Amino acid sequence: MALNDKCLFCRIVSGDIPAKKAYEDDDVVAFHDINPQAPVHVLVIPRRHIASLDELTDGDAMTAGMMVVRAAKIARGLHLESDGYRFIINMGEAAGQTVFHIHAHILGGRAFGWPPG
Ligand code: 5GP
Ligand code: ZN
Repeated sequence: MALNDKCLFCRIVSGDIPAKKAYEDDDVVAFHDINPQAPVHVLVIPRRHIASLDELTDGDAMTAGMMVVRAAKIARGLHLESDGYRFIINMGEAAGQTVFHIHAHILGGRAFGWPPG
């Protein structure tokens, strides 16, 4: 599926819903989280609608890989790499997924505990 007009993040990709963009290219869009959990909290999403990590197939390997390599580039652009940052994908409701368009969280600017809550 390319874009899903019922999906919040597809509507951010299309520009229908505004977001504070941190980065975009042909593969991914990154924007600041509306409810940040750290001084820097950016979401990285593929332009193409994929509901969750569990929906990925081998055919999505390039898209999924782009999310990861572009996230690292975005984090460097935000100068997070020297202190470190958290990179998270929540899969499913019990793990805290609330928006069903796959997204990776980049969280930085503070220390993080382990194990996560
Ligand atoms: P999840 O809990 O699914 O892993 O992450 C969804 C994230 O999307 C949450 O951190 C939430 O604050 C963020 N979010 C939800 N709605 C919006 C929105 O309309 N705009 C932006 N920028 N972030 C949103
Ligand atoms: Zn979507």
